[in-house]
Amino acid sequence: MTDHPTRVPADLPGSIQHYIGGELVDSADGGTFDVLDPVTDEVYAKAAAGRAADVDRAVAAARAAFTDGPWPRMLPRERSRILHRVADIVESRDARLAELESFDSGLPITQALGQARRAAENFRFFADLVVAQTDDAFKVPGRQLNYVNRKPIGVAGLITPWNTPFMLESWKLGPALATGNTVVLKPAEFTPLSASLWAGIFAEAGLPQGVFNLVNGLGEEAGDALVKHPDVPLISFTGESRTGETIFANAAPHLKGLSMELGGKSPAVVFADADLDAAIDATIFGVFSLNGERCTAGSRILVERAVYDEFVERYAAQARRVVVGLPHDPATEVGALVHPEHHAKVMSYIEIGKSEGRLVAGGGRPEGFPAGNYVAPTVFADVPPSARIFQEEIFGPVVAITPFDTDEEALALANGVRYGLAAYVWTNDLRRAHTFSQAIEAGMVWLNSNNVRDLRTPFGGVKASGLGHEGGYRSIDFYTHQQAVHVTLGAAHHPTFGKGA
Ligand code: NAD
Repeated sequence: MTDHPTRVPADLPGSIQHYIGGELVDSADGGTFDVLDPVTDEVYAKAAAGRAADVDRAVAAARAAFTDGPWPRMLPRERSRILHRVADIVESRDARLAELESFDSGLPITQALGQARRAAENFRFFADLVVAQTDDAFKVPGRQLNYVNRKPIGVAGLITPWNTPFMLESWKLGPALATGNTVVLKPAEFTPLSASLWAGIFAEAGLPQGVFNLVNGLGEEAGDALVKHPDVPLISFTGESRTGETIFANAAPHLKGLSMELGGKSPAVVFADADLDAAIDATIFGVFSLNGERCTAGSRILVERAVYDEFVERYAAQARRVVVGLPHDPATEVGALVHPEHHAKVMSYIEIGKSEGRLVAGGGRPEGFPAGNYVAPTVFADVPPSARIFQEEIFGPVVAITPFDTDEEALALANGVRYGLAAYVWTNDLRRAHTFSQAIEAGMVWLNSNNVRDLRTPFGGVKASGLGHEGGYRSIDFYTHQQAVHVTLGAAHHPTFGKGA
């Protein structure tokens, strides 16, 4: 094809506003930024560009809803009922959500649909969890009762990236709201469209006004103002490690609670005794699904020498068969990358890779896609660990394959980067599977398994991949104060200080 006929969703808004205190509003200074269609790179909407004044307004609304409103004072089951309604609405609109998300981000429509459903699941999960949560109590029979009050903290600042934006927003909104906080969400500037739908969804579900607030804008302006705001005691951030460092420094003077889900360069380690068919299918999916714009992408594949040549040949052949296409086409497996800036970054890494490894698939734009943010699924073999494409997060459909000879070498390669988010291990040797997984520096390990996650498990990285964990009760811990109360039972305890000998 030579031109790129985007299927423009019906009723696409031409402008995207903030949502503050229950009202859709423009920026105080009227500023906007352009939002692009990733298939044509044409501007399809103007979004309000929030700055400090807009963040101040949103925080004030959230603060008032926290100090004076019903939300933090409701019983968990009352909040839970409203959040289940949110999930119902998201589920009932999954097709529309997926259509808008796919249009705005370039994600293949089938994968955007899966992400919309996962967003509903996130709400259901945390709505149930706060009801099931039994408060901690520790007794010394007849003498002392110790119990823990869990209290919402206040206004939570939520800062999210452009990859699977709606789903990642739900991952923060669900637990922050379920525990009784009020929020200000600052979504990524590349993909503000799906976030704009939360306002209507929450209003329809019966969330009190001012509990959810949304400020669009650039990270260095709106995000920065949120991080530095004195009335925002905690920040949950997902994004690049470098941005995480900046936020860490800016939040330090306020000693804010911080949760950071950052970048990754996750290894998939394939031993010669593995089920090779399964390992190839999973590692293809692991780096090319979601356009490769996935924090947990297995973007470095380490393969034991005995099966290395066979693996590379079969892997490259399968990568060449991955279907690149228009995001709205249900047959598409890799769509358009999110933005021309990001596309340029991924293409520059491909050029760097050509002098660092052996190109065996892809290597630039796919044939038939001269415009738009398309990248052919790209595979480099024989990549040395010193290579930039081995060390740095590319965040696109690009993978580096490296051989190893021993378990020790595989471990050194796996751990030899600054990141430590996820790892994938493929072996049929039970002992090796567990000892290797324990030695690997990663927050999450998938053993003979794809990227499938139970919502009760901790999610987070080590090293430059993050700080703290979310998921299950860890999210409840992050979004609550835990106040310990110690009660003497029976006879009061009389210290003897000041009573003489
Ligand atoms: P990014 O860091 O550029 O931006 C993320 C968000 O931070 C955006 O909303 C942005 O506007 C905001 N921001 C930027 N500068 C800021 C500042 N100085 N102060 C406050 N906010 C600021 O990241 P991105 O490019 O949108 O997302 C891709 C990155 O996110 C990748 O590195 C990916 O690995 C990571 N990610 C991690 C996880 C995880 O769970 N570990 C999940 C998804 C994405």
